[in-house]
Amino acid sequence: MTTQYFRVADPRDPAIETVGAILRGGGLAAIPTETVYGLAANALDDGAVKRIFAAKGRPADNPLIVHISDLSQWPALVREIPDSARRLAEAYWPGPLTIVLPRSERISDVVSGGLDTVAVRMPSHPVARAVINAAGVPLAAPSANRSGKPSPTTAQHVIDDMDGRIDCILDAGPCEVGVESTVVSLVGEKPRLLRPGGVTPEMLRRVLGEIEIDDAVLHRLAEGKTAASPGMKYKHYAPAAPVTILKGSFAQFCAYVDANKTDGTMALCFAGEEALLPVPAVAFGAEDDGAAQAAAIFSALREVDKRGAKAVFARFPQMDGVGLAVFNRLVRAAAFRVIDLGGAP
Ligand code: AMP
Ligand code: MG
Repeated sequence: MTTQYFRVADPRDPAIETVGAILRGGGLAAIPTETVYGLAANALDDGAVKRIFAAKGRPADNPLIVHISDLSQWPALVREIPDSARRLAEAYWPGPLTIVLPRSERISDVVSGGLDTVAVRMPSHPVARAVINAAGVPLAAPSANRSGKPSPTTAQHVIDDMDGRIDCILDAGPCEVGVESTVVSLVGEKPRLLRPGGVTPEMLRRVLGEIEIDDAVLHRLAEGKTAASPGMKYKHYAPAAPVTILKGSFAQFCAYVDANKTDGTMALCFAGEEALLPVPAVAFGAEDDGAAQAAAIFSALREVDKRGAKAVFARFPQMDGVGLAVFNRLVRAAAFRVIDLGGAP
């Protein structure tokens, strides 16, 4: 298959109508959102949605997020919208927040991965919203990477993974947030954070009061336990080289890397540290800037691969605010290998 490429700067670009028609016809389109690039299909067309799983190599039990451009599209997708969900949507939609509720009969097992719930999000990216409007249907869209790879934050990342496997790519430049949406479930007794993202736990608490943080946010899923958010159980975001996170000061980091480096060792560090390290390094934002780290982390993980790293040592990000999302992605890229170097952080 030849993948058509469109570059748009503006939500009124005629290419958006073309992409809308491709989606209505059952095709697959990679589209920009404020979080990461998504791989979209008509959420109400099982044949089209199945092609997403095939193109990504995604396990069938890993559900997709359904994207809407207007609140009026939400009630048809879910059984009911509780007051807490309305308040969350009012506060953070359009934006990087996904809300999980019991699904309506319009949502099939293919989209929900067999769960009786559905995840819905209203993105804020003007091009994403224009595409949903042009398609005229809600769009099921996971991240537009091959399953297991870091999520794409530029159209080039999508081309690297998906060229020849999907109908088209709509390029609107790099994604602003850089990590996937926050996923919160309102299905149980208490609201539960399933995946951290651009909407932070503090922001959720401001609207919902107390929230639970799912174990899978910070820890490897225990053997035999079912994942509330199935995506969290799979190997994820990983470059080809093994990644190890080192917790400690910058001096401790340098000393450890120097003592343990071999041919092909690289570092993932904070901005400004590159030249001070004993190995080639790629930075992922400044040490005290969670938003910059989120915007850079997936590109940095792809970059060490491109540069042929054989082993990667990464700095330990701060875990407050958006930093929690950065740590959640990095610790999965590292298959939970974290070494505590001791002493002051
Ligand atoms: P992606 O957009 O590629 O990050 O994939 C969507 C992620 O959203 C999945 O990996 C799941 O973890 C999560 N998700 C989607 N639907 C549901 C759902 N019904 N319940 C819980 N988590 C969900
Ligand atoms: Mg993904």
